[in-house]
Amino acid sequence: MIVGVLGAGQLARMIALAGIPLGLDFIFLDPSADACANKLGEPLIGDYNDPALLAQLAERADVVTYEFENVPAEVAEFLASHTQVHPSPKALAVAQDRLVEKSFFFGLGIPTPDYAAVDSFESLEQAMITLGYPAILKSCTQGYDGKGQSLLKSPDDLKPAWELLQGVPAVVEAFVPFNREVSIIAVRSVSGEVVFYPLSENLHRGGILRVSECRTNDPMQQQAESYISRLLEALDYVGVLALELFEVDGQLVANEFAPRVHNSGHWTIEGAETSQFENHLRAILDLPLGSTAPVGNAAMVNFIGGLPKTEELLAIPHAHLHLYDKSPRKGRKVAHATIRAESQEQLSELVKKLTVLADQVDDS
Ligand code: AMP
Repeated sequence: MIVGVLGAGQLARMIALAGIPLGLDFIFLDPSADACANKLGEPLIGDYNDPALLAQLAERADVVTYEFENVPAEVAEFLASHTQVHPSPKALAVAQDRLVEKSFFFGLGIPTPDYAAVDSFESLEQAMITLGYPAILKSCTQGYDGKGQSLLKSPDDLKPAWELLQGVPAVVEAFVPFNREVSIIAVRSVSGEVVFYPLSENLHRGGILRVSECRTNDPMQQQAESYISRLLEALDYVGVLALELFEVDGQLVANEFAPRVHNSGHWTIEGAETSQFENHLRAILDLPLGSTAPVGNAAMVNFIGGLPKTEELLAIPHAHLHLYDKSPRKGRKVAHATIRAESQEQLSELVKKLTVLADQVDDS
């Protein structure tokens, strides 16, 4: 079986690392010749909408999936008319535009922060009268890891934030005074089998995920499962789906969803019976899904901008290093470590040690 992947970054790399033991072969389409998954399969190097490369991918891959959601919609549509594509182009289209995504959430009864569409400076000023400060202005498309976002603390922030957007359509949303950020990862197979991972509790800084911890028996698990189930059904979804949520006083509010494997699920590689990457492949190939049961207490720490010293990291008990084979660059995710511990207390202690190493190299 040949799996085609749009994108050859670290997510594609981890999908391949999970698929090789299942006897799968991979073809990656990515503009970059040195993309970090390329060594694990056959690289097709060029633009996502290169007709010759797309034709090759469509012809040779038994199923196509993607590692990031900004694949042009027409590319996913073209591939879907020639081969199997999971998740569906519709899931991609909804996730690509924050405004479409928010109204999709609304239609399913999933709460979101209060928001307004913004297409001019005047409409931004108008929206702020109702929303109040603080608020966040976000571009509707192409935003990830806090990119294309500005925090609005007072009317003085409006002009610079609007100018930064350079006229692209945007959404302004109320700042949520959350108690914590969590995400849920669900998997649905072609046959409709569904499994959920335990919630991840996520720590972001500067809009970038730093630490995720698995929360077994979390009181918010049921509410999160109910929300993500609505998305799975409405999108007739196949594959791994991640939903990022804010918890505000016992209520979950949706931030965004990702139609792909997700950074907040990296702890599942060693911390769950079946990783999100393996389950994504099982789902799109219509194989039975694997157990999502956690193995001990697990967490993940990202390394951003720089690499830890391998010897130092591996000296931390129960730490597992995942290097992405990417050259360090400011703000770039280059590795993560998973940690597995016997108790929550031990986990917190080990996460602290990993965080010290991560902070030493972090330049973001
Ligand atoms: P996003 O790119 O939308 O996932 O945002 C990145 C991070 O910015 C989130 O994980 C939060 O930490 C923060 N953030 C985004 N939107 C809001 C909001 N409406 N209220 C509070 N924090 C937010």
